[in-house]
Amino acid sequence: MRTVRAADMSLNLERPLVEIRNVEKVYHSSRGDTVALEDLSVDIRRSEFVTVLGPSGCGKSTLLRCLAGLEGITSGELLINGQAVDGPPDDLGVVFQRDVLFEWRSVIQNVLLSIEIAGRDKQTWRPKAMELLELLGLKGFENSAPWELSGGMRQRVSICRALLMNPNLLLMDEPFGALDAMTRDELNLELQRVWMGDTKMVFFVTHSIAEAVFLGDRVIVMSPSPGRIAGIIDVDLPRPRELEMRETPEFGRYTQTIREMFQDMGVMKASRRQRT
Ligand code: ADP
Repeated sequence: MRTVRAADMSLNLERPLVEIRNVEKVYHSSRGDTVALEDLSVDIRRSEFVTVLGPSGCGKSTLLRCLAGLEGITSGELLINGQAVDGPPDDLGVVFQRDVLFEWRSVIQNVLLSIEIAGRDKQTWRPKAMELLELLGLKGFENSAPWELSGGMRQRVSICRALLMNPNLLLMDEPFGALDAMTRDELNLELQRVWMGDTKMVFFVTHSIAEAVFLGDRVIVMSPSPGRIAGIIDVDLPRPRELEMRETPEFGRYTQTIREMFQDMGVMKASRRQRT
C-alpha cells in the first residue's frame, strides 16, 4: 500500500486547481478553420475569483467550454486538479447567460436536477438545496414555477443549482449579461457574499470592465480573435467590495488601465479628452 506523506498532500493542495499551458483551439468547418484560442497559458489557484474580459468572438466562451469538458482543445495542456480534462469533471458547477430552467419543474425541483441526473437521493440533498435558496434570498419561492420569477431570481436559482454539490470550481459565462443594471449590481454583491462565505475557484466571463474589476482577484484580459491573453491584472482592492467603491480613484485606475489595453489593441476608441 502506498503511504501518502504529508509533503505529497500539501503539494497537491498547493498545486493550482487549473493549469492552462500553451492551449490552442481550432474549429474546423466548411467555411475553413477558425483559431479561437492561441498559445494561452495561465494557472488559477484554488479559492481564486478570476474574471475573463474580452471583445465578442475572442474565445472567452470557448475557453470556458474547454474547462467544462464540453469541447476538446486542439493542442497544449488543460489540467484540473492535475488531471487532463477529457469530459465534464465531477467537481464543477456551471452558470450560463441563459438560465436554462425547466418551466414545468418548481424552483426546488430545478435546483435538485443535477442530483437527479447523478442518480442520487433527492431527499438527502433537499435541506442543502433549501439552505442555498435561503442564502440567495429565495426562501418561500421553492414551490414557485420559474415563469413566476424575475430574471434576477431565475439566475439565482441557476446559481443554487450550480453550487448544490459544493463544487471546487464554478464556471460562469456572462451570467448577469441579460439582466438590468440594478439587478446586475445586486447579484454582483450576492455572488461576492456567497463566494466569501465558501471560497472556491470562480472563472467568470464578462463583457463589462467594471464588473470584471469589481468581482475579480485577477482580471484576465483577452485580445481580439484569435484569443490570446493580452494581460493579467491583479486587483488589490479590499473585500467585501461595496458598490460605492466603483466611484473611487483606486477603482478608476484599474478600469482605466484595462480600457487603455483595449484602446492599444484597437478594440475601443480613446475618449476625446484623452486624444487631445
Ligand atoms: P466569445 O465568447 O469571446 O464571444 P467564442 O468563444 O464564442 O467567443 O468564439 C470564438 C471564436 O470561435 C469566434 O470566431 C467564433 O465564431 C468561433 N466559434 C465558436 N464556436 C464555434 C463552433 N462551434 N464552430 C466554429 N467556430 C466557432
